Amino acid sequence: MTAASRETLPVPMPVLFLSHGSPMQAVQDDAVSQAWATEARALPRPRAILMVSAHWESGVPLLTGSTQPETIHDFGGFPPELYRLRYAAPGAPDVAQRAQALLKQADFCAGIDGTRGLDHGAWVPLLHMYPQADTPVLQLSVQPMMGAAHHVALGRAIAPLASEGVLIVASGHMTHNLRQYFHRDRSAVQQNRDFRDWVDARITAHHLAALTAWEAEAPYARGAHPTTEHFMPLFVALGAAGAHYDSTLLVQGYTGDVLAMDAYRFAQAASQAA
Ligand code: ZN
Repeated sequence: MTAASRETLPVPMPVLFLSHGSPMQAVQDDAVSQAWATEARALPRPRAILMVSAHWESGVPLLTGSTQPETIHDFGGFPPELYRLRYAAPGAPDVAQRAQALLKQADFCAGIDGTRGLDHGAWVPLLHMYPQADTPVLQLSVQPMMGAAHHVALGRAIAPLASEGVLIVASGHMTHNLRQYFHRDRSAVQQNRDFRDWVDARITAHHLAALTAWEAEAPYARGAHPTTEHFMPLFVALGAAGAHYDSTLLVQGYTGDVLAMDAYRFAQAASQAA
């Protein structure tokens, strides 16, 4: 490959992992929302956004294929203003077909759901990141019963989308013990922090083997994630980022002392991008 042709290769979009918070995050203007918005403004404008949401679980990977996905209010007991929110971005059925083809190439049985809309794991961050809702959006589901390595492979399979102008945003949570959150149980604040710090150190060290073995190796693993669906998007992001990412912690903090709100950007390392 000549130097000239090398220069024409597109620079891949980075991959993001966000802790999306409670549905109330949709109407909160705080450090987390502002970090999401700041990140979106700094990125090249994506051709489409692929949201990998913890709130869509399925037996096999599914993609949304609707041309106009509706806004799903998949929560109960929150103020009426949240149920009036809409995120009216167009869908991206062409990207869904491309992603399905990539998944099939990697031996995944993957489908397209032509009717499903956007859940709050997708639209809560998007309301802050792309408030104009003029960039096409699609979603990819998670399969929590399949574990971390499955989701790394899922991310690897869809990684080429980042070089095609698609912004992959994995939307889950760094820690997600809702019982502690809703009961204002502060008995395990430090344990949640220890888990978060363990994960953060291994992200920084590119220690993917330890991360995928998180349930056995991380301190307080199943306390921080009594169910695993909110942690799986991180593995999709790590898979899509490839082995040579540069990670940047975009925001850090806790909602209710126990829900870690960490967000990361994974960009292809400069030495690999050339
Ligand atoms: Zn959630």
